[in-house]
Amino acid sequence: MYDYDLLVVGSANADLVIGVERRPGAGETVLGSDLAVHPGGKGANQAVAAARLGARTALLARVGDDGHGRLLLDSQRAAGVDTVGVLVGGAPTGVALITVDPSGDNSIVVSPGANGRLTPADVRAAGSLFHASRVVSAQLEIPLETVVEVVRNLVPGSRFVLNPSPPRPLPADVLAACDPLIVNEHEAKVILGDDAVTGDEPEEWARLLLAKGPRSVVVTLGGEGALVASADGVARVPSVEVRAVDTTGAGDAFTAALAWRLGAGEPLAEAAAYAARVGAATVTKEGAQVSFPTAAEVDGLCG
Ligand code: ADP
Repeated sequence: MYDYDLLVVGSANADLVIGVERRPGAGETVLGSDLAVHPGGKGANQAVAAARLGARTALLARVGDDGHGRLLLDSQRAAGVDTVGVLVGGAPTGVALITVDPSGDNSIVVSPGANGRLTPADVRAAGSLFHASRVVSAQLEIPLETVVEVVRNLVPGSRFVLNPSPPRPLPADVLAACDPLIVNEHEAKVILGDDAVTGDEPEEWARLLLAKGPRSVVVTLGGEGALVASADGVARVPSVEVRAVDTTGAGDAFTAALAWRLGAGEPLAEAAAYAARVGAATVTKEGAQVSFPTAAEVDGLCG
């Protein structure tokens, strides 16, 4: 009945990465490594992660009419994502300028570019994609008013999954549509705002977040796995023990996998356990999109 298991509405960025011995101060120039350019952005990452697992996936996003935009379109298509919803033009493709120092710490400047021009009107014009998709997922690297419009355009019977990253307070109608709201510790604290409790009790955050209106909540806990919360209560999702080399993209892969499995009819705890395996497989490899596993690689993961 549905053409797509998952419609991802979100950002697409070119990640421009340079290794540096140290960061320049104001007015200073330092020499760095060769430039590496990678496709990224949370929307593009989620779409690639889902497609690599075998989900029939479409992306609704905006890129510039430039080389970075073509890189993003090519990488989506190579992964098997339907790019009929990727709009071109209006501003340069979003870019993340990333310097990495010898200790592995990142400094990042993001120019949202075309991501900031993905408008509510673009969402309304993509109505056929919403009708064709079992699950719709979004993040917050596009304007909040666009995410609000996504929620208004959900078709009865479809499911909405939100990873509010980068986090900011959310309107009640967006929170009420989430099934689930997926947050890490930092995002949980920002969404809870004044309701955040002191102490480090993820179970308590999950309960407080649920009280804000989502039908379900997932709190991801890095190497500790995750928590799921719904009207049925709060449950721990076990972590999968792996040798982590790079955690970039783990949250995006987790969200994509969870959205896909929920759309296939799995209960929340089961879908989250699968997503935790996908997240764990992702951290065993360097990079973001290149580290997302196939379903066979997830099945072959020990632990
Ligand atoms: P984010 O990248 O949004 O902060 P997390 O770091 O919590 O998200 O990672 C998302 C999920 O990926 C976790 O819930 C977990 O299932 C998996 N994961 C992340 N880091 C590790 C790790 N070191 N070992 C095993 N699984 C991990």
